[in-house]
Amino acid sequence: MKLCRFETLEFAAQHPGRTPREVHVESRAGILEDGLIREITGELWGDRRPAGRQWRVDEVRFLPPSWPSKIICVGKNYPAHNKEMDSEAPKEPLIFSKPPSSIIAPEDPIVLPRNSQRVDHEAELAVIISRRFARPRPNEDLRPYIAGYTCLNDVTARDLQRLDVQYTRAKGFDTFCPFGPVLETEAPPSDTTVEGYVNGEKRQSGRLAEMIFSVDVVLRAIAETMTLEPGDLIATGTPSGVGPLHAGDVVEVRISGIGTLRNPVVGPRD
Ligand code: MG
Repeated sequence: MKLCRFETLEFAAQHPGRTPREVHVESRAGILEDGLIREITGELWGDRRPAGRQWRVDEVRFLPPSWPSKIICVGKNYPAHNKEMDSEAPKEPLIFSKPPSSIIAPEDPIVLPRNSQRVDHEAELAVIISRRFARPRPNEDLRPYIAGYTCLNDVTARDLQRLDVQYTRAKGFDTFCPFGPVLETEAPPSDTTVEGYVNGEKRQSGRLAEMIFSVDVVLRAIAETMTLEPGDLIATGTPSGVGPLHAGDVVEVRISGIGTLRNPVVGPRD
């Protein structure tokens, strides 16, 4: 089942100038099926009660499916990507975070920072958490804690990542965390493809089966350190083929069975 958060184009036009967080608070939830959104009440991972309204996809603007308290990412999780970066596979999941201020919606512009000369796309599968948990038992089934799966672009200022020991600056710019447009509740099979496209040309491709650490291993490693809350976002790493973005580009993250996340790229703001 595909779930989404959205606002109507009419409402968006009447309420300009809101922060992304304010847009999220005022957004609607729905179930996407056959080009129609059946509106529901409450959060995507709670009781899904019909609100009695439905919308065509061309009447709405899709928003990120959650507003996470934290965004935790896994680095170096595909062997072919490690090879292209000339780096070793980590012995346990390498985690870092992006701030919620980096979140943007599908179709929102990624803004190139004025202090970076090299900004890369990183197409990734992301997991959204449904229930609070921490330090699970070794044999505990983690599926009840997963709301679903979505597309994420872990946009990275590669030159600053190489300069800094920490990834905070390189990964943390405003607009560097587009995700959505839908939350797929079914777990993706291992032959699911994660692909990155720039201006319609395929640049990245990998299958989930290639991941060094599975979603289950990644979640256990993160939850060993920190309590995960409903809505929290976990990015699972990028396959090979990362490369630069330029003003005027359109970048897409396509995940088979889940959807396509598309964002234009614009030059630095003053
Ligand atoms: Mg990444």
